[in-house]
Amino acid sequence: AARVIPGGVNSTARAQWAGWTPYPLFVTGGTGAWLQDVDGNRYVDYLLGLGPMILGHRPPAVTDAVVEFIRNRGTVFALPTEEEAVLAEKIIAAVPSVEQVRLCNTGTEAVLYATRLARAFTRRSKIVRFEGMYHGFSDAVYWSKHPRIDEAGPDHRPRPVAQGPGLPKGVEDNLIILPWNDAEALAEVLATRGDEIAAVLMEPVMCNTGCILPQAGYLEAVRDMTGRHGVVLIFDEVITGFRLGLGGAQGRFGILPDLSVFAKGLGGGFPVAALGGRREIMALVADGTVSMAGTYTANGIAVAAANAALDELSGAGVYDRLDEVSDRLRGGLGRIFEQAGLPAFVVGLGPLMQVWFSREPIANYRDAVRNADQALFRVWWENMLARGVLFHPGAYENLFVSTAHGLDEVELTLQAARESAADL
Ligand code: PMP
Repeated sequence: AARVIPGGVNSTARAQWAGWTPYPLFVTGGTGAWLQDVDGNRYVDYLLGLGPMILGHRPPAVTDAVVEFIRNRGTVFALPTEEEAVLAEKIIAAVPSVEQVRLCNTGTEAVLYATRLARAFTRRSKIVRFEGMYHGFSDAVYWSKHPRIDEAGPDHRPRPVAQGPGLPKGVEDNLIILPWNDAEALAEVLATRGDEIAAVLMEPVMCNTGCILPQAGYLEAVRDMTGRHGVVLIFDEVITGFRLGLGGAQGRFGILPDLSVFAKGLGGGFPVAALGGRREIMALVADGTVSMAGTYTANGIAVAAANAALDELSGAGVYDRLDEVSDRLRGGLGRIFEQAGLPAFVVGLGPLMQVWFSREPIANYRDAVRNADQALFRVWWENMLARGVLFHPGAYENLFVSTAHGLDEVELTLQAARESAADL
């Protein structure tokens, strides 16, 4: 395969972490919480395609809705459909801060549009973002978490995603990169350069350096400060959206950003993203100040999938059950580490979590770089894989629980964890 696909095989993850599994894991398919490989091995899947498979693999309601739509209606029209407006209404009903919605295809695009709107709205150019967060692969926010965190520079700053002679000039000048969970650092920048800053862009829960929760009062402080300085607060809820609840992280924490970005869970596995927020900012699209485009935007597959996924997620008790199964997993893993005397703990909220191998608490990217033991994580991860449990191979990534995971899968996972811990 490497002969025809440079850098790896058939997925963004693989391209980034070529050689990330100890043996080539060629997937043939998945059902619910399970994946199967070409050798017939089965794995309880907590990678979930990097998050989109929030309803598990091949969720019947989503599959049926898509098949029905493309068979009977079509795919790409470049004209409005009623279903697009219905989807927008569902998103608005679900997410507290969202008054209007535009669809697009990927999280990367949605972030690009959100920052474009913020710049047009404020007539300022700079974007504040945070060490260790990831907002897509566009050059506009190109300072990313580095795929290999240990290769971050000596000052712990992530390297740019885009590198080499093609790197656009001037992009870095428009970015201010701060440590997260540090209200003072943000206060200082806003006090000195607030009138240059268009937006503060953040994941409300840090998901792209493992899973790190906001410290008590931090999101409130950010909301308060950005409001006072006329800075647009953008929550990148690509991972947290429709996962920490139908209202995402903002619903869970009760903090209302000005703009929000969604993808992954929104489509139940199909590529669709959205951005939404305050009407007066979104109005810049309607009056033509800010342009958005995309041949495949709001295509029939994307809209049918998202409508069906949101209907499934709106079912009675869905998130209670997701939390219950996730809490069982999180609590069980934590107890196993404690009993085994391992320097490891589990952090997370609802169906979003991360196993940290560290003796110190981890509040931001710098803590992760300093304290997390990647080598030990790797041994643990391989032990789990060998026992039929697939987590994200990155020591600084998330594991996801889907609505298809039940207590049976959790029990199997905890049994594998007991054995894996004993083997460390
Ligand atoms: N924002 C966040 C928080 C993400 O985790 C990701 C993808 N992992 C993106 C944006 C980019 O989304 P996409 O891969 O759909 O472009």
